[in-house]
Amino acid sequence: MKRYSAFAIAREAMRHHTGWERAWKSPEPKKEYDVIIIGAGGHGLATAFYLGKNFGITNVAVIEKGWLGGGNTGRNTTIIRSNYLQDESAAIFEKARSLYETMSQDLNYNVMFSPRGVIMLAQTESEIRGYQRTAHANNLQGVATQYIDAQKVKELCPIIELSGPRYPVLGGLWQPRGGTARHDAVAWGYARACSDMGMDIIQQCEVTGITRKNGKVTGVETAKGYIKTKKLGIVVAGNSGHLADMAGFRLPVESIALQAMVTEPIKPCMDVVIMANTVHGYLSQSDKGEMVIGGGTDAFNNYTQRGSFHHIEETVRALIETFPMLSRLKMLRQWGGIVDMTGDRSAIISKTPLGNCFINCGWGTGGFKTIPGSGWAMAELIADGEPRALAAPFTLDRFKEGRFIDESVAAGVAH
Ligand SMILES: Cc1cc2nc3c(=O)[nH]c(=O)nc-3n(C[C@H](O)[C@H](O)[C@H](O)COP(=O)(O)OP(=O)(O)OC[C@H]3O[C@@H](n4cnc5c(N)ncnc54)[C@H](O)[C@@H]3O)c2cc1C
Repeated sequence: MKRYSAFAIAREAMRHHTGWERAWKSPEPKKEYDVIIIGAGGHGLATAFYLGKNFGITNVAVIEKGWLGGGNTGRNTTIIRSNYLQDESAAIFEKARSLYETMSQDLNYNVMFSPRGVIMLAQTESEIRGYQRTAHANNLQGVATQYIDAQKVKELCPIIELSGPRYPVLGGLWQPRGGTARHDAVAWGYARACSDMGMDIIQQCEVTGITRKNGKVTGVETAKGYIKTKKLGIVVAGNSGHLADMAGFRLPVESIALQAMVTEPIKPCMDVVIMANTVHGYLSQSDKGEMVIGGGTDAFNNYTQRGSFHHIEETVRALIETFPMLSRLKMLRQWGGIVDMTGDRSAIISKTPLGNCFINCGWGTGGFKTIPGSGWAMAELIADGEPRALAAPFTLDRFKEGRFIDESVAAGVAH
């Protein structure tokens, strides 16, 4: 694969862009692979990438029912942060955030990582206490965050209204190296690198069945025929329950629609990410100038990839009281994704009752930020057959043992 570089852009400009190669191949499936990953979202593709990069395992297929990155990976609001409370979470979220810092160079693909800083607003006394506690925990974990007062919030984000009608802004948890990245580019960058290593990314190929023998997976039934595999990774976010059902086990996961929207583009007016958990909305400005708005999950389980109408009103109300200037803007688009939620709001990276089948799910409303860390940990699990330090706390056993990783505050708002 030819490298992308300033020289390549100049060369292609000279020959009317006729020399660019396809970023990834679209092969027909082989009869058998060492590893099949179901789901070409960010987590599935990152898993494949680190299997190749860290373990030299490249006889891998990533099988996708739609188009790669067309699930939650291409539908999220791209917030990246690692200011979680529990040590287990901080470890994997900070690993992921640090991998984002060098991802463009590692993949030779511009993922537009923008560490512009993230503020989680404190709008009640209990939020002040909660965020001060998280800042102390983060400092012990080596994650750079600090609690800031309302004036500092205003300094960092001049368009904010501090004395909103329902809840004033009292302060916030500030992570200066949090930020955003271009979500499609993350999927495309991993796909290109995987394809370059000789892996097959097979799109428009739904997995419809999982065959088993003597407690092990033998292959998958797909829209393009039967494919044998030595190991299987299930990485399908909101569809995890269906795939687990095909494999004959159950998961402690619920699937719910979560939605987001963007306004018309305007001139740059905000260079931080703001999350307002009490009124429930979050906001950043994209590089195109659109104000990117995220809201909450529906109050009932569903697979609509749309989100219910009343949430639009709630989210817009929350954002307008925090940023009154938004009331003048037109809404351009609204969309939804199916998020997979666990009871403790932490992910599952685990072995399953089938010896050679592994699952990665439960990232819920906040798994874009963990794509590289999760892929790294899942690749370790698939390669070794056992979890290493990053994944070990996130196994399915914790639901039997009551060993929860409670992130309901850090993940309480969708993001
Ligand atoms: C509106 C919204 C906003 C969000 N905002 C943020 C945010 O700001 N920050 C953040 O960190 N996270 C955010 N998230 C969460 C984040 O998007 C997800 O946690 C993450 O993208 C999950 O990635 P994934 O690769 O596991 O899943 P996906 O990207 O959904 O990929 C799973 C893939 O599996 C495929 N698949 C499913 N079933 C099958 C089958 N039977 N056969 C073959 N393929 C199959 C799907 O088509 C899909 O492409 C948000 C999510 C939504 C919906």
